Amino acid sequence: MRDGPPGAGGLAGVVGFPVGHSRSPAMHNAGYAALGLDWRYLKLPVAPDRFAETVRALPGSGYRGVNVTVPHKLAALELADEPSPPAAAIGAANTLTFREDGLVSADNTDARGFLDALGADQRGVRALVLGAGGAGRAVAWALREAGAADVAIWNRSPQRATALAHELGLRRVAAPEPGDLLVNATTVGLEAGLDEPAALEALGLTRVEPFPTVVDLVYSSEVTPVAAWGARAGSRVVDGLEVLVRQGALSFELWTGMCPPLDVLRGAVRAAGPPATR
Ligand code: NAP
Repeated sequence: MRDGPPGAGGLAGVVGFPVGHSRSPAMHNAGYAALGLDWRYLKLPVAPDRFAETVRALPGSGYRGVNVTVPHKLAALELADEPSPPAAAIGAANTLTFREDGLVSADNTDARGFLDALGADQRGVRALVLGAGGAGRAVAWALREAGAADVAIWNRSPQRATALAHELGLRRVAAPEPGDLLVNATTVGLEAGLDEPAALEALGLTRVEPFPTVVDLVYSSEVTPVAAWGARAGSRVVDGLEVLVRQGALSFELWTGMCPPLDVLRGAVRAAGPPATR
């Protein structure tokens, strides 16, 4: 399965720990089926101390690439022979490609997937990013690269926001402030049962004006608290499942050389069930 041109067939998967609830296999396998590709996408639960040796062995078993999720995104970047400029700048990789020459390339499709999900031109936009973890880093970098006029970063632990803002030449804010675009890149809303007032309180959003556009990277079978808040205020809301689809579509194309049908991916991801990590 290893040999042959892109699209000729192969294995792909998602490496994480845990990875049991991932929606990526349903999404990618639906795309392969729709295009008649002889590919399969599997869940690969791998503990941190086995990450490097396991991943290095995958090409020998027919794998052409893997997505990487919590807690391995930094290790994935470190393992790669050739990190893409976005992955290197963000400091994390979520997509590894096993090349014919034996080298491993690393990409970060979270950043581009976020911009693809957002759709509109971000030049001149004033954005507020909540969160300074892996997703916050990718989003803040993506917005800066897309020409946003101002990217403010708020984080529960202020020192992480300060460090990220300094690294990317952006602005840290002590409390959320109004803008054109709000992105929730925290895990707030991931845990079932957290009600909207508690989520808004945790994010300091109780006294902020509505934003014209709200993106909630958190995804769930239910409407998430931040997405519900945005919708009620009349904001344009982009949910985490659309971002998941867009970053997955980029990985799909990298490995198979073919553009997946986005509606098929969307249908599979939305039918795939309860809250999940990627
Ligand atoms: P991470 O690196 O663990 O970062 C977690 C972030 O959430 C940190 O900024 C953390 O703040 C903040 N946080 C946690 N609990 C909080 C609370 N109670 N109140 C306020 N802030 C809190 O996680 P990540 O990889 O960045 O992922 C963040 C979210 O994005 C996850 O829900 C993930 O599933 C989602 N995500 C979705 C996609 C997609 O395709 N839709 C892609 C990537 C990530 P501290 O620094 O103070 O701890």
